Amino acid sequence: MDGRDQKHGNEATEMGDARGEMARPDTEPDLRRKVAEGLLYAHSRLSANTGRTLEATAFLYALIELLNEKGLISIDELDERKRTVGDRLVEQLRGKGTGVVFQDPEYDKYAFENEVDIDCARRIPLCHATCCRLPFALSKQDVREGIVRWDLGQPYMIDQGADGYCEHLDRSACACTIWKHRPVPCRGFDCRKDKRIWLDFEKRIPNPAINRPDWARSLEAVEDGKTETEKRSKP
Ligand code: SF4
Repeated sequence: MDGRDQKHGNEATEMGDARGEMARPDTEPDLRRKVAEGLLYAHSRLSANTGRTLEATAFLYALIELLNEKGLISIDELDERKRTVGDRLVEQLRGKGTGVVFQDPEYDKYAFENEVDIDCARRIPLCHATCCRLPFALSKQDVREGIVRWDLGQPYMIDQGADGYCEHLDRSACACTIWKHRPVPCRGFDCRKDKRIWLDFEKRIPNPAINRPDWARSLEAVEDGKTETEKRSKP
């Protein structure tokens, strides 16, 4: 991604200064659809979660009171176990890819030091800036800043167009239009090690699968041992 900066850096930086003005405008029907999807998502999750939370809370309080009255558990033991189980459930939720997602852990993108130096400009004719088709979660910093667009139907994943590319990519120049403000996964992503993109980085052989329109949604040509969420995300 840095190499792309070398080629398109100045123009990208200037465009990036415009605080998101260069994002391609939505047409009204497109915007309405995205807002409707986002509201539907939020309302359906809220409604389902509220019902389940009420039911579970009543059940749990009744159970705890009974067990405590009978001297079978103490409240201290209960609190300790609650922390352990809580951590486990959060992991399960992440693994299923459900719920609202943010980058975790979160870094200050303007202080991020592990940027990767790749000769992107000379490789883009081969890789077609495929890294900008990978879905990834934004950070709270990105969302609060209000420059990077997120997918209203899938909070808080990067907003992607119908072609699968990030909405902030200038398609004709293959340049990031918010370069100065790009999220941490864009700064730290290292395609050299990513078999989804390069079969052989040194020999400049891209994975032919990147030419498939559905490449980002059917990433089976990936390294072993990763969860589905990891496979489909920038690190
Ligand atoms: S913000 Fe979008 S266009 Fe810019 S580097 Fe990241 S994925 Fe690519």
